Amino acid sequence: MLIPLVGTRFERHEISDSLFDLHSRGYIRFREYRVSLCKGRGSINIGERLSGCQNEIAFSNRLTEDYIACPVCGNDYFFEELKDGSVLLKEITEINYEKIVKDIIKKIEEAKCRVININGNEHSYIIHVEDREYLLIFDSIYSDPGIIESQEGIININISNVLKKGTLPDTVINILGMNIVRDGFEVEKYKLRDLPPAKEIISKLTKISEVEKSILEKSKYLSWQAVENEFSNFFLNQIRVKTVELYKYRLLIETYPRLSYVPVNVAGAGKADKISIPLTDYLAEIFDGTFTVDAKCYTSTSVSSKTIESTQHHLSKDGFDARRTIIIATTNNITCWDDVIHYKSTTGHYRLIIFNARLIAEVSVQLNFSKELLTLIDKFVEIPQE
Ligand SMILES: [Zn+2]
Repeated sequence: MLIPLVGTRFERHEISDSLFDLHSRGYIRFREYRVSLCKGRGSINIGERLSGCQNEIAFSNRLTEDYIACPVCGNDYFFEELKDGSVLLKEITEINYEKIVKDIIKKIEEAKCRVININGNEHSYIIHVEDREYLLIFDSIYSDPGIIESQEGIININISNVLKKGTLPDTVINILGMNIVRDGFEVEKYKLRDLPPAKEIISKLTKISEVEKSILEKSKYLSWQAVENEFSNFFLNQIRVKTVELYKYRLLIETYPRLSYVPVNVAGAGKADKISIPLTDYLAEIFDGTFTVDAKCYTSTSVSSKTIESTQHHLSKDGFDARRTIIIATTNNITCWDDVIHYKSTTGHYRLIIFNARLIAEVSVQLNFSKELLTLIDKFVEIPQE
């Protein structure tokens, strides 16, 4: 969890176990008080009548003989009359960052990772994880912008629910601080070991767009009859057998949320032009290795709602579970992302999975089979004779 901001108020029943836990660890402090409205007072004696201003009056829960004054209109009330109909609140008054950071670093060191405080820089540390070195910061705070630019790997530990500005690079690894406090750093350490260095991530992104471009160029010379079996079998088989790469790919997109969205076009009346498909969700069944499908392939024609309909009809005729359909298209000419989203929102799962040129490139580069894929496509390319 992320620690709520100072000033966040809770009614008694809203205080979760994890908030109590934060409190008992000494990470946050609460102030308890009551809140009532300045509601005025009716009385038969004109002198005792008050008209309320309806503003909030916060007051201590401790019984007092003294008057309690409304901060806005100055009306004086007795404790008992305000307590009636008031709400007992707890408010976070303090977050002990120093203790939290200290405890997190202790957990990291217990996992046999070295943490070095950068001299004179209270917000940044260097952390050694196995043979790699990262810059370690907390809540996206760093005092020296130069240090962010010069560092290849950055780990940002999120502690509180502060509003983040998008100033950190895409390759920053975000980890929840309270998870480290609760579970230690061991698991995170092994994840870090299995993640590619930032340089490699960036070079893969470049490669994805090159492979995409290459698929698109060749696509116009491909006939779907030629690719239907061999191409789709190859593609789906690679996804099945590359289990180590799949694990690393999943880790990658879970670690770098900003890299895990693929934008697609949903052109149409009254619709936003682009939406983003979250890959962790979209590819969940593929990551689980539970999918069994017959795929349909498209090369030059666009994939539309009509295509989907006929594909599903065709698959169900073959006795296939048509609720899950995979479409492989070597173009980006897809006009039915709507259907993909619709299936997801009505069934809770991505039952319709379309791999367009962009996604074929993405998956084949991340799973390390783009070279073989392009070679296979070359085999089917038929450039028409002049
Ligand atoms: Zn008042």
